Amino acid sequence: MSLTRGQLWRSARDQLASVGIETAALDARVLLAHGLGLDRTQLIASEAEPVGDADIAAYEALVARRLAREPVARIVGRQEFYGLDFSLNEATLIPRPETEMLVDFGIARLKGRQGATILDLGTGTGCIVLSLLANLPDAKGVGVDLSVRALAQARENAVVLGLDNRFAALEGSWFAPVEGRFDLIVANPPYIASDTVKELAPEVALYDPGLALDGGQDGLEPYRAIAAGAADHLDPGGVLAVEIGFDQGARVSRLLEDAGLSGVGVEKDLAGHDRMVVAALPGLP
Ligand code: GLN
Repeated sequence: MSLTRGQLWRSARDQLASVGIETAALDARVLLAHGLGLDRTQLIASEAEPVGDADIAAYEALVARRLAREPVARIVGRQEFYGLDFSLNEATLIPRPETEMLVDFGIARLKGRQGATILDLGTGTGCIVLSLLANLPDAKGVGVDLSVRALAQARENAVVLGLDNRFAALEGSWFAPVEGRFDLIVANPPYIASDTVKELAPEVALYDPGLALDGGQDGLEPYRAIAAGAADHLDPGGVLAVEIGFDQGARVSRLLEDAGLSGVGVEKDLAGHDRMVVAALPGLP
């Protein structure tokens, strides 16, 4: 006797829950919808349909990856961020909801400014700069990354979102490949201290690219590079916004102040944790 779609996802849900995965029910549904090529609404409306043996085997393979703690977004290769759909690969992080705060900040700062320019350092999937461009119709953006695989993904996302005519992807370390000045510089750099990367949740420690997580011995190396180049790459009136770890607000603020930036401030995320530091060029309106 064959299994129905509903029976299949419920049994996967129970398996995922039994190893302590808190989002078991949702994960099981998303993976089944992905495996069958349906959206989740179609799946919920068709739970009584039988599933063929080949589809069952394919689904079990997806569930096995999740049981090994691979994040659902990596298994399906995409993640929603700021209401847009981003594809990701092994060289990029999965876009995270906390990072949407940088996008909110950038939109608020640049709205109504003609031809605003944006630089995203360590762009990964491009989620930050591309979400900004999607909401600022005449802005132009540059994404920099050390990883060519990440840049290829950012470029592909730009094409799919119809933003490639306003986006350029540059390979290199922080400001090295960048010329000129920008109205907004954003970054969600690697900010985990090298020694603690392995202590993160298995979904992160085992599957996220180390290059995107490891911020050097004290987790602050990328902020030093960003602080060193910011003043030379901000336009008059330009601002910098960087994502930080919850306990890095004071130290990152100090680095930016020591680099000659002004108006340095720490902002909290919706969970009440310090999450972003902003700064500007001094002595300007
Ligand atoms: N900017 C990308 C993101 O926010 C990549 C960040 C990173 O690799 N540290 O997802």
